[in-house]
Amino acid sequence: MRRRSPAPGLAGPITWLVLGFLLICAGCRPASLTATPTLWEAPTSEPAPAPSPAAWLSEQALAMRPGYAEELADLAHAPCYDLQADISPEQRTVQASLHITYTNAGASALSELPLRLYANLPYRQGRLDILRAERDGRPVTFDYAVERTAVWLTLAPALAPGQTAHIALTYRLAVPESAPDGYQELVARDGIMSLAGMVPLIPARRDGAWDLDLPEPYGDALFAETALFRFQLTLPRPMVAAATGSRVEERSNAKAGTRTDTYVSGPARDIMVALSPYFQAESRSVEDITVRSYFLPEDRTAGVEALRLAADGLRQFQEWFGAYPYRELELVETPLLAAGMEYPGIISLGRHIYQGDQSRRLPWVVLHEVAHQWWFGLVGNDQLREPWLDEALANYSAWLYFERTAGQQEAAALFRELFEEPARPFQETDRDLPINLPVAAYPRDAYGPVVYDKGALFLHALRQEMGDEAFFAFLRGYAERFRYRIATAGDFLALAQTYTPHPLAPFFAEWGFVK
Ligand SMILES: [Zn+2]
Repeated sequence: MRRRSPAPGLAGPITWLVLGFLLICAGCRPASLTATPTLWEAPTSEPAPAPSPAAWLSEQALAMRPGYAEELADLAHAPCYDLQADISPEQRTVQASLHITYTNAGASALSELPLRLYANLPYRQGRLDILRAERDGRPVTFDYAVERTAVWLTLAPALAPGQTAHIALTYRLAVPESAPDGYQELVARDGIMSLAGMVPLIPARRDGAWDLDLPEPYGDALFAETALFRFQLTLPRPMVAAATGSRVEERSNAKAGTRTDTYVSGPARDIMVALSPYFQAESRSVEDITVRSYFLPEDRTAGVEALRLAADGLRQFQEWFGAYPYRELELVETPLLAAGMEYPGIISLGRHIYQGDQSRRLPWVVLHEVAHQWWFGLVGNDQLREPWLDEALANYSAWLYFERTAGQQEAAALFRELFEEPARPFQETDRDLPINLPVAAYPRDAYGPVVYDKGALFLHALRQEMGDEAFFAFLRGYAERFRYRIATAGDFLALAQTYTPHPLAPFFAEWGFVK
């Protein structure tokens, strides 16, 4: 995520280039979703049958670039989520059936299995109700927990280590019109439906225990293993959809003016979908990857500029951090209240940064979110307990891009403005905190300056400690070693040490890391 405020600007030519584009940008504001009811006939689902287990991986390969599909072989036992969702923008609802294939990779039998219901986070103001749960065709009991942000499914008989369960859920999701206490990732307004957190997910385990923390209203909530998703969306025909992964089929349905699109994600920790009948799209190619930007007509100029920056960032980050393995990367304009939010294969950008003074931040936000495709997407981490591990890396990676492309003078100005100045009030007072605390340990106003900005200062100091050659080799090695996995701060520090003979322990201790 890139937070909304305070609002650092990009100094120099990048800023004025973007601002200049926006000054000549004009367009009409789309009607609200409810203002055009004739567009929104109730969808009628006509889902195609799910593929056989044997066909599952070969279908997932359609989300991967040629040459990277073989990486799926290591994910043969990853959770599989097969979703069929009827989406009604008019009613702001999703009616879903979800089939989860889950293999118990732990050492002990499971008598119950939790799912996180991120849509039910209090500040998201959605309402996800499980209507029915089954295991292998038989109903199972379920109990909500953690303020309805989780549900426990009873597994009887218990699921032995190595055994696979087939879980089927039907559920209904009501999407709010606004959610101002959080980032508004799940919302239907301004002619756009943003559906973050629409899928109940098996949480990652932390020291053997499932993650059932109740996330703060600030900071990112997701902590999940890499999984494979197939999702069929039944939509009113005029809808343009941006989504994780690749669309492999589009079918018109006979009834009610709907169509059904089928997507596969490839290896992903979650999926995200955003819809609007007003979206326009532009795309660019980076090698064999299609980068696509979806935006409202009035925001075309910024949408096209975001596309250029994302494509350029993708090219540069691949050179440093290794290949982006998917066929597609998408950007989508949404009513997000944060500046940007990362999801697997798709980046949500708040409408406010396409327009006016906030647009000065667009280049920075786009690069930060593209970097998250490595730091969060490919390399997972505990975003609740060790948020610096992806946020500081995404922030510093964005700066590395500008150091490479904008020249030393501009890069130095950015470094001061974006890292040193926000972090200083905390570093130089008794409010200083280490960068490696859980989200909940930071006061809301300290979270960004310490985790993102002081975190980036830590990475810059580590680079100086190791030297450029060792530092960049380490970042690439870290991305390779933990690709599709979850890394901890301990993993990060230990791996860094293997890239230099110079002892790093005193340096890490200086920055508050204790063994
Ligand atoms: Zn971020």
